[in-house]
Amino acid sequence: MNAVTIRPLTDAERDRLATARLVAVESAPYLAHALFSARPLAAVGLGTFAVDRHWRLYIDPDTLTEWGPQVAGGVLVHEANHLIRDHAGRADALPGPVDHDRWNYATDAAINDDLLRAGLALPDGVVTPAALGLPDSGVEEAYYAALPDQPPQTEPGCGSGAGDPTQPWEPAPDAPGTPGLDDGQVTIARRRVAESVREHASAGRGTVPAGLRRWAEAELTAPEVPWRKVLAGLVRRTAALAAGRITYTYARPGRRRLPGIVTPAMRAPKVTAAVVIDTSGSVTPDELAAALREVNGVIKAVGGSVRVITCDAQASAAHVVRAATDVRLDGGGGTDMRVGITAAEALRPAPDVTVVITDGETPWPAAPGRSSLIAVLTRARHLPHVPAWARALAITAPNS
Ligand SMILES: [Zn+2]
Repeated sequence: MNAVTIRPLTDAERDRLATARLVAVESAPYLAHALFSARPLAAVGLGTFAVDRHWRLYIDPDTLTEWGPQVAGGVLVHEANHLIRDHAGRADALPGPVDHDRWNYATDAAINDDLLRAGLALPDGVVTPAALGLPDSGVEEAYYAALPDQPPQTEPGCGSGAGDPTQPWEPAPDAPGTPGLDDGQVTIARRRVAESVREHASAGRGTVPAGLRRWAEAELTAPEVPWRKVLAGLVRRTAALAAGRITYTYARPGRRRLPGIVTPAMRAPKVTAAVVIDTSGSVTPDELAAALREVNGVIKAVGGSVRVITCDAQASAAHVVRAATDVRLDGGGGTDMRVGITAAEALRPAPDVTVVITDGETPWPAAPGRSSLIAVLTRARHLPHVPAWARALAITAPNS
C-alpha cells in the first residue's frame, strides 16, 4: 500500500467535503448527527475514504475530487453506517481470530445492499451481497459466517472504525490537532442517531432501512422484563426443588465470630441462558424489535452472552451473541416453538433457563424439559395457553 499522509483539510477541500455531506444528509437525513460528528482529516494517498474507532473520517482529497459530490456523498453515508452499526465493536465480538478482510466484505455488502436499494450513488464495482453470492438483506455476522476465507484485499479497507486493525497511519487518539471522539461521546452520538432514526421511521419520512430501525429500537428501549430479578427468582425456586444448584461459600471466619453460628455467604449462581426467538411469518417487525430489546436485557442479566436460536417451524443453529444487534433474524415460515425449545435443551452445556420470545401463536411442549422455561409473549391474550409449569410474561409491542 502507498504511504498515507495525514494532515488537516485545506479550505478548498473542506468546501468540497461540505457539498458531498449535503448530498449525504439529503439521502440519509437520520444519519445527519453522525455525518456532522465525524472529524474529517485529509489522508493523502489513501485512495478512498475511511473511519477509525474515534470517529475520525479520513478523506483522500484526490479521491474526493475524482468521485464528485454525488458519489462522495454516497460513500460518506457508507462510512457513517460503519460507525453507527458499530462494526469495530462487533468485529471484537466475533469468535476466534478475526479474518478482517472477510469482515470488511461482509460489512460492506450489508451496508451497500441498503444504500443501493435507497438509490444512493456509489463508486463502480462496490461490494454487494449479489456479487458475493449472498442473499439480500442479511446481517453482517451471517455474511461473515457464509463467506469463505478471503485472500488479502488489495484495496484498502474502511479503517479501524469498520473493524479493521488500527492502521499504521491513524494518529494516536490524543494526537494534537487530530482529536477524535472518546467512548462517552461515541455512545452519546450513537444514541442521538438512534433517536433520529426512530423519529424518521415513525413519521414515515423517507425510507429508513428495516435493519437500522431494529437497531435504533434496541439501542433506545430498555427491556420491559426485569431480567435480573426474574432469573434470580427462578434460580432460587429451582434450587429449592433440586438441591445442589446453588454454591454456598463459607466466608473466612472473623476473629470475633460468635460461637455456634455459621454464616455461609451465598455466592450468586451463574445462570446460563438460551433464547429462542419466534421469527415466523405472523411476527411483526415491531414484535421483533421488542424481542431484541429483551435479548439485550437477558444478556446484561447473565453478564455477557447468550445462545440464540431463531425459530419458525424449524430451529436455526444456536449463535452466541453479546448484543441484540448480533442476532441473525432468519425465518418467516409457520410456527412451532417446541422445535426451538428442544434445540435449546440439546445445547451443551445445557442452559439453566430457556427464554422463548414469541407472539404466542404456537403449540407448547406437554411436559417440562431439563431447563426452566420462561415464555415471553408479545400478545397477552395467548398467556392462558402457556403451560402452568412454565413462567409466562407479557410484553407490549405496538401494532400487535
Ligand atoms: Zn466499507
